[in-house]
Amino acid sequence: MNKAESGSLELGLQERGWRPAGNLDEAELVILNTCSVRATAEERVWGRLGFFKAQKARAARRGRRLRVVLLGCMGERLKAQLLAQAPHVDVLAGTFQKHLLLEALEEEPRAEGDAGPSAGRPTALSLTGREPYRFAARHSPGQPGEFRVFLPIMHGCDNFCAYCIVPYVRGPEVSRDPRSILEELAQLKAAGVREITLLGQNVNSYRHGELDFPGLLERLLPELPQFPEPTWLRFLTSHPKDLSPRLVALLARGGALCRQLHLPVQHGSDRVLQAMGRGYTRGAYLSLAEGLRKEVPELVLTTDILIGFPGETEEDFRLTLELMEQVQFDDAFTYRYNPREGTRAYLLADDVPGEVKQERLSEVIRLQRRISSRRRLERLSRLVPVLVEAPSKRGGDLLARTEGDETVVFPGPPELIGHFTQVRLRELSGHTFRGEKSA
Ligand code: SF4
Repeated sequence: MNKAESGSLELGLQERGWRPAGNLDEAELVILNTCSVRATAEERVWGRLGFFKAQKARAARRGRRLRVVLLGCMGERLKAQLLAQAPHVDVLAGTFQKHLLLEALEEEPRAEGDAGPSAGRPTALSLTGREPYRFAARHSPGQPGEFRVFLPIMHGCDNFCAYCIVPYVRGPEVSRDPRSILEELAQLKAAGVREITLLGQNVNSYRHGELDFPGLLERLLPELPQFPEPTWLRFLTSHPKDLSPRLVALLARGGALCRQLHLPVQHGSDRVLQAMGRGYTRGAYLSLAEGLRKEVPELVLTTDILIGFPGETEEDFRLTLELMEQVQFDDAFTYRYNPREGTRAYLLADDVPGEVKQERLSEVIRLQRRISSRRRLERLSRLVPVLVEAPSKRGGDLLARTEGDETVVFPGPPELIGHFTQVRLRELSGHTFRGEKSA
């Protein structure tokens, strides 16, 4: 989501005459678009703020002005702390008023040699008020060669999982007007994009009036050109509680809708799932996964797994390993629990020792690697369509993506970049397929 929102901001800046700086010495403006999901992401931003404080002082000594903007979830969550500890930030913008940022940047002229009225004084402007979230009209800067793009369709989350900060910083679920989605889709089609990923914190919970997510897909799919080349459609991230039979049927139909689904399970123990407030049981998730495997045999199914939630016992952990074996995820994003202030779980004792969390996480990663390799090896020798993305780091080879968003490297001419082709999967190296273009 941050990437799409940064894209929209980049477009707005370009429309107002801003251009990317060649290097920091030329820059007049630095924007940090931040994420609060994990503590490590915030720690990195604090580090960057320290760096830009020094850069700003250096620019001022040379008679130049460098403005620093902090945008996004950290601006929402840590407003008071940032105002107190980072007065060199010129504009602080949260989630709900970032649409005011572009105008705010225009308010003070960008005079050459002007150290600026905000140099050395507290944060000049705070755009952190609460108002309904607004979707930008466009999210892709439309650079030449940009053929894989994100298209936000819903924003926010009403689920309040015990460990998660997202509902507090992103606010309640808001679904985008389908007319605005179709307008952006038309622009993307005109720009010749080949792959669109519909985005939302709970993308399949989309609901605009009577229109639900499968209904939206049914409206979008006929709009996607399939000749002379297809346009692929994906969506991210789905919540198990809203995975409807209609959505499964659409995935089974294939065509432009990629048979790929990221469906976070988070844990394999009912006790932990309940404490997390995930809204489903282990059994319910397993029956969803079983249905998906039966209805959509080609599906690439991936997940998120959170290890070390407060109170997680060895038995809870073993249940997670068993669930992974049962479902046979194609891949998993695995991470260890990290208390986030302001969440419900923050009030619980973080009682799984760090080294136990790490051991369990390592075991989960090892298991997933084995499963991922096994599932990929089963597909060797198949002929699959791929979208060619870029030259590979290995000279002469191309990097491409399968329908399941897996990486394939194969020898081929650079003219194929941005186009679909058929590749036979020949070998597996780590998680990457090596292939051969079909004649
Ligand atoms: S569904 Fe749960 S984990 Fe996902 S964004 Fe909402 S609160 Fe966070």
